[in-house]
Amino acid sequence: MEITEVESYTLRVPIGRSVGDSRLSITDVYWVVVELTTGTGLTGTGWMGSLGFGPDLLSGFVDSQFRDHLVGRDPFETTAIHRDLRRQTIYYGETGMAAWPRGAIDVALWDLKAKAAEEPLYRFLGGADRRVPAYVSLMDATEDDAEVVASRHGQYAEEGFTAFKTKVGNRPTTEERRRIAAIRERIGGDADLFVDANQAWTVTEAIRHVDALTDYDLGWVEEPISEWDLRGHDRVATAIEPPLATGEMFYRPERFEFLFDIGRVGVVQPDLIRLGGVSALWEAATMANRHAVPLAPHFYYAVSAHVVSAAPTGMIAEYIPAYDIATVLADPPAIEDGHVVLPDRPGHGYEISNTARAEYEVEFPE
Ligand SMILES: [Mg+2]
Repeated sequence: MEITEVESYTLRVPIGRSVGDSRLSITDVYWVVVELTTGTGLTGTGWMGSLGFGPDLLSGFVDSQFRDHLVGRDPFETTAIHRDLRRQTIYYGETGMAAWPRGAIDVALWDLKAKAAEEPLYRFLGGADRRVPAYVSLMDATEDDAEVVASRHGQYAEEGFTAFKTKVGNRPTTEERRRIAAIRERIGGDADLFVDANQAWTVTEAIRHVDALTDYDLGWVEEPISEWDLRGHDRVATAIEPPLATGEMFYRPERFEFLFDIGRVGVVQPDLIRLGGVSALWEAATMANRHAVPLAPHFYYAVSAHVVSAAPTGMIAEYIPAYDIATVLADPPAIEDGHVVLPDRPGHGYEISNTARAEYEVEFPE
C-alpha cells in the first residue's frame, strides 16, 4: 500500500452563538482536514479543530512541509514517517503549530492501517467495546446567566448524559458557587460534574476556588494552573479533594512522565492532535496504565473514543456539542445514553461528507 495523494482543505462551521472558556470566545469552528489516498483506493482521513487561529497556516504546513514526505510511503511505516515529519519541522521546535498537522496525518495513517486490516480502529488497537462513555462539555464561560447554564446541562441530562463539564476561572468564587449549585441541582446528585479552569488560576487561587466548591462533589478539577508549574500541580493536588486532571496542552507523551513522577495527577487528558495522533495517544494510554491513572482524552471524541475503548485505563471521551465534528461527517458516531457508539466499519469509520464540503469549505485568504 502506497500513499499517492495528499489533500488538505478547511471547513468553517458557524456555531450559531458565542462559546468559550476562561481564555477565549469564538463563534466558528474550523476543521482543517487531511486526506491520504493510496494506490489501493483506500483513503485515510484526519482533522484538526483550529477554532479560527491560523487554519490556513495548518493546511500550509501539510502542503509545503509534509506532502513530499508522505507521497510514495507505506502507511504501515507510521513510526518512520513520524521521524521524518518531525525532522522536517525540527527547526521550529517539537511543539506548537508545526506539531498539529503531524497529529492529523497520524490519524489518517491509522485510519488507513485499520482499513487495510479490515477492522474498526478500536479493534485494531485491541479493544472490544463499541460503546464508550462520554461527558458533555459545554464551553459555557461566555454565558453569564447561571440559570441558562444550568438548563443547558439539564437538557443533556434529559438526553441521557450522566457526566458533565462546566467552565470556571473567569468569575469570583461566589458566582462560581452559584453556577455550580444550579448545575448540580439540574443534573442530580449521582451525575459526574467536572470543572475546567483552562490554567486561569495561581496555586493559591486554585485551592481557594476549589475549596469554595467542596459541597458539589466535583469529579475532577481540570487545568487549575499553568501547565508549566509542575511543582504547583503537586501543591494543588495535595490540597484539594477532587482529582486533578490535565494534559490537553501537551505536545509530547513524555510530558506526562513529569506528572506521573510527581505522582498526583488524577486523570490524564491528552489531546489527539497536539500530542501526535493515535500513535502518541496510545503511548500516553500505555504510560497512564503503568501508573493506574484514568485516561480521558481532550476533544476529538469521534477518534479518541476508539482509543478510550482499547486503553486499559480508558475512562471517558469528551463530547463538545459546539464543536461537533458530526456536523461534517458522512456517517458520524451515534451518541446514545451518554455513550459514543463507534461505527462497526474498518478504520475510524468516518469521512467528510460531500454536502458539508460544498457548504462549509473556505479558501484563504477568506
Ligand atoms: Mg480543558
